[in-house]
Amino acid sequence: MNLHEYQARAVLKAAGIPVPDGDVAATPAEVEAIARRLGGRVVVKAQVHAGGRGKAGGVKLAADPAEARKHAEKILGMTIKGLTVQKVLVVPAADIASESYAGVILDRASQRPVMMVSPAGGVDIEEVAAQTPDKIMKLPVDPRYGLLPHQAMRLGFFLYRDLAQVRAAATVLQQLYAAFVTVGASLVEINPLITTPAGQVVALDAKISVDDNELERRPHVAALRDVSAEDPAEVKARDAGLSFIKLEGSVGCCVNGAGLAMATMDLVKYYGGEPANFLDIGGSSNPDKVVTALEIITSDRHVKAILFNIFGGITRCDDVANGIVTATGRTGLKVPIVIRLTGTNEDLAVSILQRAGFSALTDMDEAVKRAVELAGRAA
Ligand code: GDP
Ligand code: MN
Repeated sequence: MNLHEYQARAVLKAAGIPVPDGDVAATPAEVEAIARRLGGRVVVKAQVHAGGRGKAGGVKLAADPAEARKHAEKILGMTIKGLTVQKVLVVPAADIASESYAGVILDRASQRPVMMVSPAGGVDIEEVAAQTPDKIMKLPVDPRYGLLPHQAMRLGFFLYRDLAQVRAAATVLQQLYAAFVTVGASLVEINPLITTPAGQVVALDAKISVDDNELERRPHVAALRDVSAEDPAEVKARDAGLSFIKLEGSVGCCVNGAGLAMATMDLVKYYGGEPANFLDIGGSSNPDKVVTALEIITSDRHVKAILFNIFGGITRCDDVANGIVTATGRTGLKVPIVIRLTGTNEDLAVSILQRAGFSALTDMDEAVKRAVELAGRAA
């Protein structure tokens, strides 16, 4: 789950990191009022779950409240990387002496949180990593001890020469690590972490991604979810207890079990197709889940064929069959469907499907081949 910048700023602020005051608004009039209250120059910033808002015209400096309002009229409603801007953040404009990058990511290779800092902040950190990797310092953290003071100082020295700034940065980095742990993040980023002409170290931008598995025990973090900013299909899937990830291909997949779902996607690719999604209906026996799964798959207009691959263990094949019949009866099906099921109550499932005019396969290779072929023929 991604937080908006204004939410991430609140997390950083609560951890003690210097963050300029600001407020979030959904209308140009509100923006004008906030700008008046803040006084002086302000920055109006699009709140969408995407980086590079500055380059996309979603971050604008305003000299006065009237100009802030004008910027808000443009930014509210614009789309950045396919996302519609519904809110903007208004903050006092900071004077920038230097822009650095500071972040913590959960690194799967070292199985640890890794601190990352770079004095070349402000721009795409991916670009810095690709072109001038020596400008980034990475430091894995032992989660048992956290980020130790001497480690934080080392990172601070990589960013600044001035000792007061090094110390300030070290404090910010320890607070950043604490914030990372507190919210159960997979990533926290400050880009840019600036110094002001007066020498203060301040976070100007904030990005936090939270590991969905950490939300269960953090209801206050889970409450920050902005459903309106997420893909409707993924929201629907989550509400129904389905594991769903949208992909770019044309073969809609509906599978039980994450391992089988992965294997199915591999096989789709092996036979020359492209999966339209990863979808694991889970191990339960619930026809409603199948109905929701089919609704989600068919709502993707890129889907040219649907492939069911069910290995009946705890999942009963007849439940899945009933789900398919119910869903197709309700919504009607405009794309061909290939059903492979085997295992618990397989015979019952086949007769349910046959009565409704569907046929079922038991061989996985055959089913995948057929689905890929049908998708290719429709394209
Ligand atoms: P992003 O493009 O989505 O990462 O949004 P940022 O919040 O990082 O803003 C992009 C860029 O706008 C920053 O790197 C800064 O150079 C600039 N910027 C943002 N806020 C301010 C500000 O308060 N004052 C000044 N002078 N520039 C700012
Ligand atoms: Mn940024």
